[in-house]
Amino acid sequence: MNAPLAHPPKAADLPSAEGVTPVMAQFLAAKAQAPDAILFFRMGDFYELFFRDAEIAAAALGITLTKRGKHQGEDIPMAGVPVHALDGYLARLIRQGFKAAICEQLEAPSEAKKRGSKAVVHRDIVRVVTPGTLTEDSLLDARGANRLAAVAIRKGRAAVAVVELSAGSVDVVACSLEDLAATLASFRPSEVLVPDRLFSDEAAKAALDGSGGVVQVLPQALTEPVGARARVERLYGVASLDGYGAFEEAEVSALGLIAAYLETTQAGKIPALSPPRRSGDTGFLAIDPATRLSLEIDRTQRGERDGSLLACIDRTVTSGGARALAERIARPLRDTTAINHGLDAVEWLLERRDLRRDLRDGLKAAPDVARAVSRLALGRGGPRDLAAIRTGLSVAEGIAGLFPPERNPLTGPPARLAACLERLTLSPDTGGLLVDLAEGLVAEPPHLARDGGFVNPAFRPELDEARRLRDDSRRVVADLEARAVTDSGVPFKIRHNAVLGYFLEASARAAEPLLRPTGDSPYIHRQTLANQVRFTTVELSELDAKISQAGHRALAIEGDTFEVWRRTVQSLAQPLQAVAEALAELDAHAALAQWAEEVGAVRPTVDDTACFEVTAGRHPVVEAAVKSAGDPYTPNDCRLDGSGAGCARLSIVTGPNMAGKSTFLRQNALLVVLAQAGAFVPAKSMRLGVVDRLFSRVGAGDDLARGRSTFMMEMVETAAILTQATDRSFVVLDEIGRGTATYDGLAIAWAVAEALHDRNRARTLFATHYHELAGLETRLAHVCNLSMKAKEWNGDLVFLHEAAPGAADRSYGVQVAKLAGVPAAVVGRAREVLDRLEGEKSAAISLDDLPLFAIAEPPPPPPSSALKDALSAIEPDELSPREALEALYRLKAIKA
Ligand code: ADP
Repeated sequence: MNAPLAHPPKAADLPSAEGVTPVMAQFLAAKAQAPDAILFFRMGDFYELFFRDAEIAAAALGITLTKRGKHQGEDIPMAGVPVHALDGYLARLIRQGFKAAICEQLEAPSEAKKRGSKAVVHRDIVRVVTPGTLTEDSLLDARGANRLAAVAIRKGRAAVAVVELSAGSVDVVACSLEDLAATLASFRPSEVLVPDRLFSDEAAKAALDGSGGVVQVLPQALTEPVGARARVERLYGVASLDGYGAFEEAEVSALGLIAAYLETTQAGKIPALSPPRRSGDTGFLAIDPATRLSLEIDRTQRGERDGSLLACIDRTVTSGGARALAERIARPLRDTTAINHGLDAVEWLLERRDLRRDLRDGLKAAPDVARAVSRLALGRGGPRDLAAIRTGLSVAEGIAGLFPPERNPLTGPPARLAACLERLTLSPDTGGLLVDLAEGLVAEPPHLARDGGFVNPAFRPELDEARRLRDDSRRVVADLEARAVTDSGVPFKIRHNAVLGYFLEASARAAEPLLRPTGDSPYIHRQTLANQVRFTTVELSELDAKISQAGHRALAIEGDTFEVWRRTVQSLAQPLQAVAEALAELDAHAALAQWAEEVGAVRPTVDDTACFEVTAGRHPVVEAAVKSAGDPYTPNDCRLDGSGAGCARLSIVTGPNMAGKSTFLRQNALLVVLAQAGAFVPAKSMRLGVVDRLFSRVGAGDDLARGRSTFMMEMVETAAILTQATDRSFVVLDEIGRGTATYDGLAIAWAVAEALHDRNRARTLFATHYHELAGLETRLAHVCNLSMKAKEWNGDLVFLHEAAPGAADRSYGVQVAKLAGVPAAVVGRAREVLDRLEGEKSAAISLDDLPLFAIAEPPPPPPSSALKDALSAIEPDELSPREALEALYRLKAIKA
């Protein structure tokens, strides 16, 4: 969702309201409430769009643009979509970055008529649909969260507040200005609210760009703390926010933006939200947007989920679980105790295979309770959402029963699992709701409450009675048909429609005798069509009234029952969301255990040292790809120590292209992500001193599409690393400086490596094709060389993908070119040139030695020997001016 609001309608597009029809006046009034949204105006079975909205929607959705009536002498452009197809069109508009406002009919036309024949049906905007506030399943990705974020800065501190409306969760993170981009990106918001003053700030703009969300600029005044606090308190219906924690001003401002936006987009409906979860900037491993992209953590560089780390390890069985796992991988932790709690849970489930199998089987039946609760609370849910809650609660009961009842700290479930189990235990309230739904809601209820048919008649005796009355009367109606045929001799059929209700129908010819006035005929004429005539009788119209009354009553009872249940769900939203979260978290833990078992991953030791020690590590995604092609994956060790004790802090990694350098670099960075996410790691062993910020710049080159040169991008990103990396950070850098002239590049790479080593002191893997950098090993205290091994075999190059101590001796570029299918003649010529260049290479580096320049300027041909002989024969001191001139002419005459 990278599209900024494409070409949204603007307030200036609003047509004047002078001299318009009453309906048009109503449209314009609604439009004025949401000028930047495309307004879907309900008219019977269609949502109509007018004026500029119609033109935008016609272009964006490919629907027909027509016209209707005139406005100040001009045709009014119009387009429309059928009511039942709204969701599909909304999804497409939202994906293109637009907002949509839904203006509903709030009464039946018959009610409007009661106010007078000219009265217009009452209509109002019931919600504004924006990318970050979707709740409909049809508009959401089941396995991905959909979040609305807000950014605020106050007193030099930044805060990001995030709401996931479809699950009712709220997060707020205060951070330094430097970490704003990383914090925002970690939530992958679909939409970001930003106060206008901040929007003009370059650094903030970069953070917004990197987040990938659609940006909505709101007035700065909404972030003012007193007002913001009051708005948040209103959102939660509490007198004071203090009960939820002591918030920083920036946090309150960011939450205030969210509250303001929800007030307008949800048209006053209060969503069911959990209290804001606070985590300060010490909570998470900071991963900035460029690093996320480079490591392909939850999306590949092409923006797809397939091929990412997340997709590779995801073994969850529920959509809630998939979202919980995505969250965990997107925001690994920084606190060793919390990380180890996660690892304890995975280990415990890994050791209990049978229990894990039963748990996963049980979870498979769990519906998306979180989203059902949220829809019901917002008044958008239906009987199926109630059924989802019913199934979810009974799955929760079943799952809690799978675990041993005793809570032995040594053998029982570890803290994180125990906390989940606690939340699964139903309270009298949630238990009561389950009993009610089990008794009262039919097994497979319809989607919409409107048409009824979802309440068990036994649950509400008066419903049973109304339905019986309705059904009995229908039976009497059926009897009446037979009686009428016998009595009148006319072959009547009983039919029903919405206008006439029940009536007797016969062909015009058969009914002819009844149309002659006889005075005492019981058949009352209602309607004559081309071939049919319709009648009623007193008895039939009485029955008709009874049936329709009973039907209305049954519907009203069902509607009432639904509303009672809906309110119960709303009031129990928090405990119900807690059950949903516990199910999701159990699924995520069990999935990580499952994956660890499948790929042979081990528990990392995570502590507060500065160490990084991996034996036989593997890149989970590349390994899966290599193995599916039938090849083996070569595991690699890696040792770094930020303190410089025992082993190097910075490794220079050299080796030919394709030898596996970037895989090695990414692999180690991904192991950090996994370990701090509380996941096991694909390795024989791993010891990790917890990392505060992770940086990866590997395999750039696709950024040209964004209009910035690769080199410029690389330098911007390098600057970010040099200013932000600390001695607790982990940095992987690949081929810094390759986008400029060779000497510039080498100089920059050299200086960056030195700075990371001396000043930032981060644990660093530095891959380069400048073999000169290997020289740093002898100059700096904590540097070691590593190289990816390759061998020449029968004139071909074989990559061993093995990282070994020492620098690479050569680049093997020509061999790689051959492997890549460069024509043999060109490869042969390259080899010749290379041999000559290597022959001429001198010890001292000078500009002319650079391969690029040397190839561009072939050495000048040696002077001919005749010229040389003539020159050496000349003794300038002994020549007269005239002789000198003659000698010059002689030299000129010698052929070179
Ligand atoms: P470089 O960065 O040195 O050009 P890459 O890391 O892109 O090389 O690796 C090139 C290819 O080699 C990868 O796509 C993968 O198929 C294979 N490869 C890399 N590392 C390994 C490994 N450890 N074991 C097996 N195959 C590997």
